Amino acid sequence: MPAAALTDFSRLCVHTVTTKPWSLETACEQYAKAGVAGITVWRDTLEGRDIAASGKRLREAGLKIVSLCRGGFFPAADAAGRQKAINDNRKCVDEAAALGAPLIVLVCGALAGQPLTESRRQIAEGIAAVLPHARAAGVKLAIEPLHPMYADTRSAVNTLKQANDLAEPFDEFVGVAVDVYHLWWDDQLEAEIARCGRLGKLLAYHVSDWRSPTTDLLLDRGLMGDGCIPLRQIRGWVEAAGFRGCNEVEIFSTRLWATDQNQFLTQIKQAYLAHT
Ligand code: ZN
Repeated sequence: MPAAALTDFSRLCVHTVTTKPWSLETACEQYAKAGVAGITVWRDTLEGRDIAASGKRLREAGLKIVSLCRGGFFPAADAAGRQKAINDNRKCVDEAAALGAPLIVLVCGALAGQPLTESRRQIAEGIAAVLPHARAAGVKLAIEPLHPMYADTRSAVNTLKQANDLAEPFDEFVGVAVDVYHLWWDDQLEAEIARCGRLGKLLAYHVSDWRSPTTDLLLDRGLMGDGCIPLRQIRGWVEAAGFRGCNEVEIFSTRLWATDQNQFLTQIKQAYLAHT
């Protein structure tokens, strides 16, 4: 059954990349002023900052820190490259802990020319290597399957089934992030969302829309309602699977970044109630 319309912003989270022109401090101030409940922080916004102080600032503004984006990119051509990725992910865990983020979203990586099966093996190995550090820090890892158009270099994990398969053998510190932009087309989506819920691994839910036609493979995501994703239906599945976390608005769009970001945030709130 499709979910009922959302009537308030108590589960609205915005990713800092959605309002990319804003610094972390501006995003903090404007999200709080707009009544946004949560924030997912992208690592680039933390550059040159005291991360613990940034986390404190967000919490004092009344924002819930939902997750840190992003870790991953485990596959590499040689052992040294794979070790470098593991080290960077451990650093990402440290950053999440300092910020006070309970979750890291993993864009798992892929290597053009390397079989996807081998990349998936390296991803599983990478996650296993980072997991003890994440567990000790109390930070969970969410595998985010990416649309197959990114299977060359961004992620060898392209369906929710693959993400569930990958997450299943690990303990509760490894789960999955469901992003409608990447998964809306999959005829197994409803069943795999239900399975993800049964496994206790549905850790995050990201929303945006698929514009038709899409003019850029990365930077042309739409505001909810501006595309063809059945958002209410998918949220219905996610909630039927037991998910009660935030609906995270994650939009990469050169078109929308060029507009007034305060106006854009108002549009996000409208689209959240009308279409999400
Ligand atoms: Zn996402």
